[in-house]
Amino acid sequence: MKKYILVIAALLIASNLQAQMESEKLDHNYDEIANRIIEAAMADTTAFESLSYMCDVFGPRLSGSDNLENALDWIVEEMKKDGLINVGREPVMVPHWVRGNESWTLIFPRTANMPMLGLGGSIATPKDGITAEVLVVKSLEELRERASEAKGKIVVYNYEWQGYGKGARFRVHGAKDAAQAGAVASMLRSVSPIGMQNPHGGMMLYADSIPKIPHAAITLEDAALLQRLQDRGITPKIRLYMEAETLPDRLSANVVGEIRGTEIPKEIVALGGHIDSWDAGTGAHDDGAGCIATWKAAKLLHDLGIKPKRTIRAVMWVNEENGVRGGKQYAIDHKDEPHHLMFEFDSGCFAPTKVGYKGPDSLLYYMEQFEHLFKRIGDIEVKKGAWGVDAGPMARQNNVPLMNIGTANDDYFWYHHGPSDTIDKIDRKDFNKCVATIALAIYIYSDI
Ligand SMILES: [Zn+2]
Repeated sequence: MKKYILVIAALLIASNLQAQMESEKLDHNYDEIANRIIEAAMADTTAFESLSYMCDVFGPRLSGSDNLENALDWIVEEMKKDGLINVGREPVMVPHWVRGNESWTLIFPRTANMPMLGLGGSIATPKDGITAEVLVVKSLEELRERASEAKGKIVVYNYEWQGYGKGARFRVHGAKDAAQAGAVASMLRSVSPIGMQNPHGGMMLYADSIPKIPHAAITLEDAALLQRLQDRGITPKIRLYMEAETLPDRLSANVVGEIRGTEIPKEIVALGGHIDSWDAGTGAHDDGAGCIATWKAAKLLHDLGIKPKRTIRAVMWVNEENGVRGGKQYAIDHKDEPHHLMFEFDSGCFAPTKVGYKGPDSLLYYMEQFEHLFKRIGDIEVKKGAWGVDAGPMARQNNVPLMNIGTANDDYFWYHHGPSDTIDKIDRKDFNKCVATIALAIYIYSDI
């Protein structure tokens, strides 16, 4: 009998809990708000046009460039027109690397001019360029084994594509490894799964203790060509010419704009992307879309008269690509301000598939309750796990939860850091879905 009483008691407690959770859900019924957000985001044409305008009119936005400063000035004015408050520039000193003219030419066994991109931070070649034989290697192990052959040559890394991270290792650190082996310059197969004669740039690093040599990206096709020639016993000879230089740091800025919270305005939900880009394309996917989608998600809530409890702050972080000075400066400038969430979108603008969260499990469970609302936008899951290059410094310093949206970005590295990262690669509908997902996620989270 006792056993039955215990079972009945347990069932009563369980049903009580269930009822409590149900009422919690009822208290937070975002059904109607979700529909309004999604409908408005999907019908909108102005946010995509802003992204397109910025990419077309201001072009690429490399740190230190006039293009970047002009885009920042435009954003300040546009945010004000959008009705955001406390809009302004927050000063950040950024590095100023300039590409200049550059070229590489195959000299032996035939003559041909080839596409290339010098890597961000690289030094120039001497005025007459560097003319040398090539040593192609597939790995660092091969470079070490053949180090005696590398002296006085241009080392070319023709590694096998195994994802972005592994390829980027050769881009970021390859010049140091090649210089240690005695090479006079280094080049690498672009960090991309696909060629089409499209070189991809990005940042690279030197070490004070190792001689600095010029470092550049070439196309997949040309890296494979040099490999085939070498495999046939033909040693290719090339001429590399680069004018790249690093000028003194330049004053730039993070740009911020806010929607004031109604109940807890002191607490900040910060969301944004990085406004700087590499200089080959126009930084449409990386990360113009991340900037405009987050800023316009905030504007969408404002336009709909949906009032968040906490203050929502759009942040256009500067200099993610070659320094993360904007993200670091934001953490310094706002260290005393309570932040409820740091949201970053920098993973390519494709159909959203995930709302990722890194923070207390209880708040993850809370967000998971509303997964069905995101399913109205697309096949979107609420999942554990988020990251932030720009949002990271503040998140780590003040122990603030992080959030991202993930996208179906299988094609991202076709465009990323290359001349093909232009607005025509972004699907308008996918962009609007990203805006809807961000607006819904930050509204629900800011309402906790
Ligand atoms: Zn990026």
